[in-house]
Amino acid sequence: MKLPDFLQFEPFNRLREVMGADQLGAFEFFDPKLHLTAAEREQLALGLRLGWAQLRCLHDYTLAYKNSRVLLWIDETSVVEVARGSDADSGWTAPCYHLADCRSLRAVRRAAPDVRVMVATALPPPDPWPWRVCPECLQQLQFRGFDAARARHRDYSDRVLEKFDLDDFFRHYPVYPVTSDVLRALDSVV
Ligand SMILES: [Zn+2]
Repeated sequence: MKLPDFLQFEPFNRLREVMGADQLGAFEFFDPKLHLTAAEREQLALGLRLGWAQLRCLHDYTLAYKNSRVLLWIDETSVVEVARGSDADSGWTAPCYHLADCRSLRAVRRAAPDVRVMVATALPPPDPWPWRVCPECLQQLQFRGFDAARARHRDYSDRVLEKFDLDDFFRHYPVYPVTSDVLRALDSVV
């Protein structure tokens, strides 16, 4: 079936004029490899267990699953597998969640390439204490000028870490949607 060219379709053009809609807007066909369904978005708010290959590292080093930025953590189920596969300096130490493809996450990935990790768009439940953001991620992103390597900057970086707020982070790096141009430009996963 051939659809008419709706840009030349007078009744729609008149309607756009009445609505004052001078922009055509953007529309993308749904691609299940790139786009989350509504159900997947709901699941992602609670947490999904995924393999590394399903994740992407965006050009800004943040992590994405399909067209949503995500945070990532290693929960009890995965930590056993990580420990089994890792050596002493896998880089994984305190229970914290990651927002970027940081040094410590790369070390975990090398040590446990088959582990399935948790990703979500919201914080994991306390275990038993609230999870903390990974300082290596803030370093990788230089988030709000965080730079633990600069000794004279240390107090400032400590404050950024202490006051870190996930909502504030997602204002800088919007969760959803990551556009398909960005996703298609990436041929590698995390
Ligand atoms: Zn990290």
